[in-house]
Amino acid sequence: MQDANCIFCRIVRGEIPSRKVYEDSEVLAFHDINPLAPVHFLMIPKQHVATMMDLEERDRDWFGRIMVLAPKLAREQGAEDGFRLIVNTGYVGRQEVQHVHLHIIGGGTPLGAMLPRPRS
Ligand code: AMP
Ligand code: ZN
Repeated sequence: MQDANCIFCRIVRGEIPSRKVYEDSEVLAFHDINPLAPVHFLMIPKQHVATMMDLEERDRDWFGRIMVLAPKLAREQGAEDGFRLIVNTGYVGRQEVQHVHLHIIGGGTPLGAMLPRPRS
């Protein structure tokens, strides 16, 4: 299932260009347009699933595939010493694009703290 106006569905359909990292029948990986580190790409299901909160049993296959592919693609892209995998989810997670995507961020020097500590 695809969403006509969703920006990542439009990337899947080739209506918006992207720098592809990997593609198969269920999954697409492409470089983030605004990278936060030397390696920063996104992995998405080709079918439209808005957020991780919408995942169900039927999503096991592509999600499992993405999790196994992520370290392989990260290495190939140059993140040989590790990376961070982030899935911003919903309002609290500050998700901006409403199509599930996993950020793979790494390369270069160690990243900043996972989150700033709330002031006590
Ligand atoms: P978020 O929804 O906050 O997890 O982040 C959405 C991410 O999508 C941001 O890091 C954007 O830079 C990225 N992004 C938005 N539009 C595009 C695009 N057309 N091609 C590649 N990355 C994009
Ligand atoms: Zn979509």
